[in-house]
Amino acid sequence: MARFEQLFTPLTIGGHTLPNRVMMGSMHLGLEEAPGGFERMAAFYAERALGGVALVVTGGISPNQAGRPGVVGAVLDDESQLAEHRLLTEAVHAAGSKILLQLLHFGRYAEHDDLVAPSPLRSPIKARVPREMSDADVRQTIADFGRATRLALAAGYDGIEVMGSEGYLLNEFLAPATNQRDDAWGGDAERRRAFPLAVVREVRSALGAGPILSVRVSAVDLIPGGSTGDETLAYAGELAGAGADLLVTGIGWHESRVPTIATSVPRAAFAEFTRALRGAAGIPVAAANRINTPEVAERLLADGTADLVALARPLLADPAFVAKAQAGTPDAINTCIGCNQACLDHALSGRITSCLVNPRACHETQLVLGPTRSARKIAVVGAGPAGLAAATAAGERGHRVTLFEARNEIGGQFDLARRIPGKEEFSETLRYFTGELERRGVEVRTGTRATADALAAEGFDEVIIASGVMPRRPAIPGAESSIVADYAEVLRGERSVGERVAILGSGGIGFDVAEFLTQDGPANALSPERFAESWGVTQDPAVPGGVLRPRPEISRRRVTMLQRKATKPGAGLGLTTGWIHRAEVLRRGVEHVVGASYDEITERGIRITVDGVTRELEVDTVVLCTGQESVEELSAALAALGIPAQVVGGALLAGELDAKRAIKQGTEAAAAL
Ligand code: FAD
Ligand code: NAP
Ligand code: SF4
Repeated sequence: MARFEQLFTPLTIGGHTLPNRVMMGSMHLGLEEAPGGFERMAAFYAERALGGVALVVTGGISPNQAGRPGVVGAVLDDESQLAEHRLLTEAVHAAGSKILLQLLHFGRYAEHDDLVAPSPLRSPIKARVPREMSDADVRQTIADFGRATRLALAAGYDGIEVMGSEGYLLNEFLAPATNQRDDAWGGDAERRRAFPLAVVREVRSALGAGPILSVRVSAVDLIPGGSTGDETLAYAGELAGAGADLLVTGIGWHESRVPTIATSVPRAAFAEFTRALRGAAGIPVAAANRINTPEVAERLLADGTADLVALARPLLADPAFVAKAQAGTPDAINTCIGCNQACLDHALSGRITSCLVNPRACHETQLVLGPTRSARKIAVVGAGPAGLAAATAAGERGHRVTLFEARNEIGGQFDLARRIPGKEEFSETLRYFTGELERRGVEVRTGTRATADALAAEGFDEVIIASGVMPRRPAIPGAESSIVADYAEVLRGERSVGERVAILGSGGIGFDVAEFLTQDGPANALSPERFAESWGVTQDPAVPGGVLRPRPEISRRRVTMLQRKATKPGAGLGLTTGWIHRAEVLRRGVEHVVGASYDEITERGIRITVDGVTRELEVDTVVLCTGQESVEELSAALAALGIPAQVVGGALLAGELDAKRAIKQGTEAAAAL
């Protein structure tokens, strides 16, 4: 398609010609270790290969026992494991793509007792201290990479990707912060490079000429004491000589205190580091990190940043990303919003990876939206995430669907979420659903509050109730004061907010509202330059790790966040994103009060008691972010009328509700029709 000319220009890598410039970056799926996981992975990868991805890279598999992520981590060290791997290679080949096995040694990030590293230094995000590798350990590990490569070839893989970024073992050898040896494997930059280069040479030797050898390289470490830009480029220049055909950029380590893939990171924020790597590499380089649309991918290819793009999460969100771009319908792509909620948060907590916007990801064989044999007349009540998912999935199955929404616009609470600075991507989900409603032939009636009698009068066969939640208004004395507003009123701009604010409730929405109210200019998420300056990311080639200190961004508005619990504020936020929200409000000068009881709200502020001491907080506005309550007024009346109904999302249960659960339940309800 002329529109994505670069994206669909073939590329030859190590003697293999790929039909387009999209490879699927490696992701740990959690299926690698699950019973029956390889069958499910085969279906997962095949769906992406059928969707047009030219080259698939598996999740990381360790070349030996010490390199496993945990006690049950996947290893390739024995012929008995080959049959499972053949399921993957055969499925992907049958779908017309190529597949590389990623070899990943966890180093000091491993969570078992036999973890090893170049030096006995604990990672700040892990509890265990690694054992220092002896010279013999290092040489054996290199040999183990060779053995795993030979086994991978026997399983039918088209080559290997060596994982050398994100702070895993190879990266640990490269960085002075983690390699404090003084022997053949450390001491100066050249000797710190010796182990990763030896691994690459060993893998090339085991592969022979022909199969593809990709190396994932940390283009910038983003940790104090990481490699400098000069060192990284020197290393990149040596990788081709060691046998690499392709470099894929990794950005930052898992322990970096700079966001690298969250939704608040601008699209393609780290492209300049990839461009520098490409200048030094002399072989094709793939860009990664927050490339979530074909337009961004095309731009990076066209402006010489990279030779191809490695997409990971965007292919969880939409397996047909490439096919839709090629068909000239990029608007039909279900866009990854960078939330991490069902992918990275799951992967790092031992759960099966999936996707907030596509609950079928990694559940392809379980959540099936097959065409219905008896099309029925279905009403879906509520156009929040749950109702949108239910209506579009039911329409996809061939039912005649009408979607009722009381407000004049779709989205429900998600329409509020997208107004938060740093959550701009959430608009893409509503854009996608708007198109899907049309493509699936759903009749949408906004501005229409559904009632049981009206649904009965129209003769619906079944109803999906997705009427969601409303903000909780706790019975605090004085809650009727004119200075009280709930978060929905504030985010919709229905209430003005003063310069001094108390936010009651420090959950996810409390933090979001704090960021909304302290956003004094355009959001950093919209500008890679502002983002880099704000978080201290630098391209100065002499700065170790490419990172300086983040910049304080004190807001002119004075905001205090309160909660009744005495626990750390934001303790329940996302596993991989909570720290970003906590750091963000800290930088903006937001104060926290925990363990508070709310005695009374007046026209001048709020009186609270903490640790037995009562005080008055003088504020202009009190914003309620005190949780939600379900809105569910239909099921009893429908039952009385004999109309079958399913209740999903917030309407079913308001506690710990998020869009991930809402979309999953809506999709499952449609699958069950
Ligand atoms: P809702 O979103 O509440 O939708 C219900 C809809 O039903 C509403 O539009 C309502 O008008 C309509 N309705 C009700 N009754 C009727 C009726 N009788 N007839 C017709 N229509 C009716 N979740 C995450 O996963 N990640 C996040 O980062 C995140 N951030 C958030 C940030 C903010 C500021 C907010 C407010 C929420 C956030 N959420 C987030 C939560 C997420 O938006 C909700 O969990 C999700 O929207 C719930 O979906 P739902 O469809 O069940 O209900
Ligand atoms: P939440 O995280 O459960 O927080 C609710 C807050 O209200 C808590 O701080 C609670 O703390 C307080 N509260 C509850 N009942 C109260 C009462 N009767 N009186 C006074 N305070 C009360 O819920 P939320 O912030 O409303 O968010 C809703 C859902 O949206 C969350 O479950 C979350 O999954 C989702 N969300 C996710 C993100 C994200 O980044 N992933 C962001 C926003 C929202 P105390 O009881 O200690 O006072
Ligand atoms: Fe993207 Fe969120 Fe889906 Fe992960 S869960 S793939 S970040 S949309």
